[in-house]
Amino acid sequence: SDELKIAVGAMELADKIVEQVMTYIDDVFMLSDETILNAPMIAEIVQIGYTRIPVYSGGDRNNVTGLLIVKDLALLDPDDNFSVRTVCGYHQHTVKYVFNDTPLAVVLESFKKGDGHLAMVKRVHVGEEEEDPTYDLVGLVTLEDIVEEILQAE
Ligand code: ATP
Ligand code: ATP
Repeated sequence: SDELKIAVGAMELADKIVEQVMTYIDDVFMLSDETILNAPMIAEIVQIGYTRIPVYSGGDRNNVTGLLIVKDLALLDPDDNFSVRTVCGYHQHTVKYVFNDTPLAVVLESFKKGDGHLAMVKRVHVGEEEEDPTYDLVGLVTLEDIVEEILQAE
C-alpha cells in the first residue's frame, strides 16, 4: 500500500546519507555577491525558478557566504542597481551546512528545528600531508530532496 511505502521510506532515512539525494554542486545555481540586480538580471533569476540561491564571495564558488531568497527581490527597485552583496547584507539569511555523510534523518530533524529548508553540503578535503582540514563544497540539499526520498521508497 501507499501507507506502507511511505513508512518504509521514512525508516530508510536512517540508512541514507545526504550525498545520495543532494543536488551536485555543478548543477547548483549560484550567484556571485558582485552580481548587479538590474532588471534583466532579476528577470533571469525569476525565470530560472529556484526560491533559494546560494551566494558566493571572492569569485570562489567554494566560498558560499549567503543566501538570496527570491522574494527578497520583490521590493527591490531595479534602477537602484543594488548588488547581491547589499541585498544579502540587509536580509542576512543564515546558510546551513551539513556533511556529505550525514544521515537524512538527522538533516530532516535540523530542517524541522530551524527556519531554513536548505543546506549546503561539504566534504572533508583529503590533503597530501597533515594540514588543517579544509572542506570542499559538494552540493546542496533541501527538504524537498528528503521528502521525495520518503515518498519514492520501493
Ligand atoms: P520551493 O519549492 O520552496 O519554491 P525550489 O523549487 O526552489 O523551492 P526545492 O523545492 O527546495 O527548491 O528543491 C527542488 C529541487 O531543486 C531539489 O532537488 C533541490 O536540491 C534543488 N535546488 C534547490 N535550490 C537549487 C539551486 N539554487 N540550484 C540548483 N538546484 C536547486
Ligand atoms: P517557504 O518556506 O518555501 O518560503 P512559506 O514559508 O511561505 O514557504 P511553507 O514553508 O510552505 O510556507 O509553510 C509554512 C507554514 O505556513 C505552513 O503551516 C503553511 O500551512 C503556512 N502557510 C503557507 N502559506 C500561507 C498563507 N498564505 N497563509 C497562511 N498560512 C500559510
